[in-house]
Amino acid sequence: MTSVKAIVANSATTSLAPGRIERRDVGPTDVEIEILYCGVCHSDLHTARNEWAAWPTVYPCVPGHEIVGRVAKVGSAVRKFKLGDPAAVGCMVGSCGKCASCRDGLENYCDAGGTVFTYNAPDAHGTAPVTYGGYSKQIVVDEKFVLRVPAKLDPAAAAPLLCAGITLYSPLRHWRAGPGKKVGIVGLGGLGHMGVKLSHAFGAHTVLFTTSASKVADGKRLGADEVVLSRDAAAMEKHARSFDLIVDTVAAAHDLDALTNLLRRDGTLVLVGAPEHPHPSPAVFNLLFARRSIAGSGIGGIAETQEMLDFCAEKGIASDIERIRPDGINAAYERMLKGDVKYRFVIDMSAL
Ligand code: NAP
Ligand code: ZN
Ligand code: ZN
Repeated sequence: MTSVKAIVANSATTSLAPGRIERRDVGPTDVEIEILYCGVCHSDLHTARNEWAAWPTVYPCVPGHEIVGRVAKVGSAVRKFKLGDPAAVGCMVGSCGKCASCRDGLENYCDAGGTVFTYNAPDAHGTAPVTYGGYSKQIVVDEKFVLRVPAKLDPAAAAPLLCAGITLYSPLRHWRAGPGKKVGIVGLGGLGHMGVKLSHAFGAHTVLFTTSASKVADGKRLGADEVVLSRDAAAMEKHARSFDLIVDTVAAAHDLDALTNLLRRDGTLVLVGAPEHPHPSPAVFNLLFARRSIAGSGIGGIAETQEMLDFCAEKGIASDIERIRPDGINAAYERMLKGDVKYRFVIDMSAL
């Protein structure tokens, strides 16, 4: 085992602080990655502060699942990577590999409950009680869960693609966002800004819903055809019964009826935001009088994540980022809570 520097949450109520964790030795199919950049997802904050009752946090906790780095060591059976290659890790580092979902390349939905998330998931290797994420100098991951980073992508701006990118790419593809479709993206944060860029790149008529008047111009610059202030009831009403798909990235509980009301017949509202408290129960009549659906979507499979990275490289898409030093993480969390992020913090790990 190797002792590695990390940024650690030691309890729900204390600031994150520098610390050390153990990483396993490289096994035959493992890749050791020197981490260069790690994006800061709102899920990191939810986990560091133990906000998800369904998924309690085990401390010490090391968040981070938007990881880009360089291959530092490979196991004897590794074929996909060699020393010095750029490499990335997203939200998962393992799954059962045998169930129908895993066989379909949807390890994120492992039917055996075997998806091993990059942090705060039981560590099958027994290195520690739970997995530790990318707010650290180094990580060891089975090559099946390591992604190739296309040379065209800037490594820091590519990091947020590993969660924010795939979390929007997957539902936009699954519900067929494209020409002739009207697609709404709710919330212009890390996930939302990738949603606007990707929906626009897929050729859909893209509408951003934001609570922040200050983000209207940015929404258009990022690719939205229209921007609607979601607290303006009259502006919302103008879009009634017109959307094929709305993807909701908001990180806090809110009224869903204002959104289902905007779906056309057979339209779908996809929830990807994972707030601490439940949304108020949606109005059933809003759904049944237009055969509307409310669905959920969680990240994406490994093959799909690679496809997304290759798509972004081809289209010149990456995240709009603000680089921070490791000791800036607590201030970054506070700004995230105020919606004051343009549009993803990325930690430069060389300074750790
Ligand atoms: P973020 O960067 O903080 O963005 C969230 C955005 O939601 C804000 O910028 C804000 O946009 C909007 N918002 C409106 N009201 C809000 C409120 N009361 N509190 C907070 N935000 C509010 O977060 P993120 O990293 O994009 O993550 C968003 C959510 O998705 C989190 O709950 C996260 O855990 C979850 N998530 C889910 C998956 C998945 O697989 N399903 C993957 C990653 C993250 P405006 O200013 O434009 O209104
Ligand atoms: Zn995330
Ligand atoms: Zn499985």
